[in-house]
Amino acid sequence: MSAVIRTTGLVKRYGRLRAVDGIDLDVRAGDVYGFLGANGSGKTTTVRMLLGLVLPTAGEVELLGERMPRAGRRVLPRVGALVEGPAHHGHLSGRANLSLIDAAGPGGSGRTRRARIEEVLDQVGLGGIDRRPVRAYSLGMRQRLGLAAALLRRPELLVLDEPTNGLDPQGITEIRELLLELNRRGTTVFLSSHLLAEVEQLCTRVGVLDRGRLVLQDELVRLTAPTGATVVSTPEAGRVRAVLDGRVLGVDGDRVVVRGADPAEVNARLVAAGVPVSALALQRPTLEEVVLAAAGTSADRVEAPR
Ligand code: ATP
Repeated sequence: MSAVIRTTGLVKRYGRLRAVDGIDLDVRAGDVYGFLGANGSGKTTTVRMLLGLVLPTAGEVELLGERMPRAGRRVLPRVGALVEGPAHHGHLSGRANLSLIDAAGPGGSGRTRRARIEEVLDQVGLGGIDRRPVRAYSLGMRQRLGLAAALLRRPELLVLDEPTNGLDPQGITEIRELLLELNRRGTTVFLSSHLLAEVEQLCTRVGVLDRGRLVLQDELVRLTAPTGATVVSTPEAGRVRAVLDGRVLGVDGDRVVVRGADPAEVNARLVAAGVPVSALALQRPTLEEVVLAAAGTSADRVEAPR
């Protein structure tokens, strides 16, 4: 897999604060990469360095195989970006704003460009938008408009800082579906978030930032791979220990964790001994548990799913 974003020893210092402290990001073609971290952990600073909006104190950034910020003019037209507080002209309509952004792009006939604008407005759920000025938009609508602007040039890579910020649950679901659809069609997506659940539902690859340091980076399926234990649900938890002598790793109410990754075998032994089994599953850690283990005591700074 080719690297779409690669950073090497990336550092940003503000006075004595190392806001980003030597991170090696590795985002590959086809990823939906979730860049997870608590408020203030350095996500926005990192995103800004990726895009050449902030210069690193040390280290290197490669975007689509080219050095940033040096190759920005060549690379950035292939990248759609949404950074904190999308800037729009408040007195103009959403369409007029997109038209202005599009005018700086590769061009094309008026009709092609108008069709392109309608297409991205539809994609982000703003298709029916009227002529009201952007200053009358809700935060969620502004966020959608920012995303529409990021999509105008059909980017190979989307870099999104907290893209669901300000959206209601339905809006969050819609944006998630849109990002997954774009990804299916070949767009690599890099998004920052402080929401574990969001990253767990959307991403294929995860990086966890903790006070400027990248404490974890891996495929989600590997991070949440089975542990080698089986979870048995039974109203007679107390009897499991006697039947599966020495294999019980823990009991929590009617859930018993048993060593061994063959639920059918565990089931057969319990049923043969007359222990009723209501459910069986391979044990997997949740992303929350994985993040907790990696970030230590500060993991509570990342918002857990509710
Ligand atoms: P949030 O989700 O709240 O935006 P974040 O993870 O994006 O958080 P950053 O905005 O990157 O975090 O900030 C990381 C740290 O760097 C914070 O302590 C912040 O106060 C500090 N910082 C960011 N920008 C500057 C700046 N221009 N000058 C001084 N300190 C800064």
